[in-house]
Amino acid sequence: MSPHVLVLGGTTEARELAAELAARPGVRVTTSLAGRVARPGALDGDVRIGGFGGGEGLAGWLREHRVDAVVDATHPFAEAITKNAAWAAAATGVPVLVLRRPGWQPRPGDRWHPVGSLGAAAAVLPGLGRRVFLTTGRTGLAAFAGLTALHFVVRSVEPPAPPMPPDVHVVLARGPFDVPGETALLRAHRIDVLVTKDSGGEATAAKLTAARALGLPVVVVRRPPLPEGLSAVPDVAAVLERLELPAW
Ligand code: NAP
Repeated sequence: MSPHVLVLGGTTEARELAAELAARPGVRVTTSLAGRVARPGALDGDVRIGGFGGGEGLAGWLREHRVDAVVDATHPFAEAITKNAAWAAAATGVPVLVLRRPGWQPRPGDRWHPVGSLGAAAAVLPGLGRRVFLTTGRTGLAAFAGLTALHFVVRSVEPPAPPMPPDVHVVLARGPFDVPGETALLRAHRIDVLVTKDSGGEATAAKLTAARALGLPVVVVRRPPLPEGLSAVPDVAAVLERLELPAW
């Protein structure tokens, strides 16, 4: 029977992986999306949308749909679903491989302030500037809600909702972004400091180059660690190498 691979998605890499797997005649691929984005782009293979109901729900889904392998290709900061995948792997014996793009590395001229959480980012901000470009996503804005003296430019794909800081200008946009565009945005809003998660990848890295050129400090939120028992590979090619798939 064709092996069934479940890809936990929501990233560019997940989309690329689904395309690679769907192109193999002997393989069945289903991509799972959380359902956060109103109009996700088209995906190759089957698609299911919405939470599973925790680790137990995911384990049940793996059994019911006879999944042979799971690739967790979710965003490096999507911590809950990755924990659930580790739990479901232990409960069912279905192998889970994590696809995590490498994190960003500082370059000469960068003024990075690494922190362990959004809360820690909020704590260092008042010492770094008054006008903040916040690119950590619309769901974590509560961590900055108490910073009433700062002006925030918040960029997100979907409109943010409270709780959030009182002085917010929202920029709705979806990457990829380029260096001239990011430089223009930082200048137009007279930004003093940038806040980002260490998402890695090319699509959103231009802001780091722009901040470096303008000499701006960047608060970089470090990634949460992988749950015990899960191992990660850095790209789609490495996933295809690790999965034992039938020959073309
Ligand atoms: P999260 O905190 O890890 O997940 C919260 C809950 O959402 C999970 O417990 C699960 O619900 C459900 N869920 C998450 N990803 C899912 C998936 N691929 N398929 C089915 N259910 C999923 O995740 P998040 O940070 O809210 O991110 C949600 C999605 O957006 C992820 O798929 C991620 O790849 C993508 N994304 C996240 C970020 C970020 O910065 N966090 C950035 C870009 C894209 P149940 O427990 O009910 O199963």
